[in-house]
Amino acid sequence: MKDFDLVIRNGTIVTSSDIFSGDIGIKRGEIKELGRNLSERAEDVYDAKGKYIFPGGIDAHTHLDMPFGGTFSSDDFNTGTKAAAIGGTTTIVDFAVQPQGKTLNETIEMWREKADGNACIDYGLHLAITQMNDKTREEIPQVIRDGYSSFKVFMIYEGMMVDDLTFMEVLDIASENNGLISVHAENPFVIDYFTKKLLESGKTAPKYHEISRPAYCEGEATNRAISLAKMTNAPLYVVHCSCEESASEIKKAREEGFPIMGETCPQYLLLSRDNYEEEGFNGAKYVMSPPLRDKKNWNYLWKALNDGVLQTVATDHCPFFMKQKRMGLDDFTKIPNGAPGIELRMALMYSYGVDKGNISIEKFVQLTSTNVAKIFGLYPKKGSIVVGGDADLMIFDPEKKVKISKDILHENVDYTPYEELELKGYPVATFSRGELIAEDGEYIGSENRGEFIKRSGPKII
Ligand SMILES: [Zn+2]
Repeated sequence: MKDFDLVIRNGTIVTSSDIFSGDIGIKRGEIKELGRNLSERAEDVYDAKGKYIFPGGIDAHTHLDMPFGGTFSSDDFNTGTKAAAIGGTTTIVDFAVQPQGKTLNETIEMWREKADGNACIDYGLHLAITQMNDKTREEIPQVIRDGYSSFKVFMIYEGMMVDDLTFMEVLDIASENNGLISVHAENPFVIDYFTKKLLESGKTAPKYHEISRPAYCEGEATNRAISLAKMTNAPLYVVHCSCEESASEIKKAREEGFPIMGETCPQYLLLSRDNYEEEGFNGAKYVMSPPLRDKKNWNYLWKALNDGVLQTVATDHCPFFMKQKRMGLDDFTKIPNGAPGIELRMALMYSYGVDKGNISIEKFVQLTSTNVAKIFGLYPKKGSIVVGGDADLMIFDPEKKVKISKDILHENVDYTPYEELELKGYPVATFSRGELIAEDGEYIGSENRGEFIKRSGPKII
């Protein structure tokens, strides 16, 4: 009987704080030893010469099989997690959104039915609370104990949004029970006002989506969300910061010592409002909320990541086929909001972050994996390369050049917002709990092998 089921040898191991060359010894899905010359003690050997070995990516913002605007996002837990795996992501935390009239436990049941036996990588669920009543009050502490330790509130979207009173109560109860609240921060009154004006003057094209919800609309809501968190002594995580107007509110609160954290996404670092000008109906590809912003925000967001104002990069993966997007051909408000990104996050952040000199390689690991694991109660089982942790690893070739095209991707959708972008560096293999599940752009793991992960409370960073 050998000491290891598998040894990954000769790679350059990169964690959130170190780079070193060596071997990783894996037994029953866990990392058992880090060292040199471990190969002889292994049943099986994978040679990672010339490659980086990173902790597998953790994407804490996905919407698989998500009902929105009369349709569903086009990746389900099977197709979406396979695409994630090929792109080097080994864990997701998806959003279970409480339908009106349903309890939190009923919501969990609905989403577990979508995910269990379908997902190919490990997954957790955030609960989006859409209504507050005695039942919800009673369920929040119970679902936290059951491993659903993070919640979301939407400040916009009919049927999902909560008012400030409900928001405050969620903050209060969840934080008292060691839960974390995240928020989609935009102001619905601002959006309604501008939307009405635009539609009345015949402005119905996709580009008006962005004009209907200016950056101040996100900044104001972020400020209000943070104020409510301050008054309830609750930690808060602001999802998908798209601009200086929201990120600067987080910066200010952190400087005052409040436990406020934030996320951005590759689309807000690499794409801009100019994309809405693409010909025909192509601007609809980028209809998401918050919308793409002026390019001037890119530098601010990279700096916010570097300075620790924002701690994570997620995708907000919520794909819709163009035929679904065409529901809004004559009215931008009917275009389902969302875009794909789950497969490219790691490669985009390496190429445009590390390779272009915007972030260090250790920062890359923090933003895509380690910080995410800490904030969402997955650390140290996930999010690092450490003895006792799960052997979730991305093998990455820093020299591999790729020109992005939807044809090389596996997301179940007919476009990518990153078409034709050039990448230097690409994932070549992915291990999940020691199993080689993706190699050279193909999913090769067993079907439906993903496991639900019970998460503990947040670590505030
Ligand atoms: Zn989202």
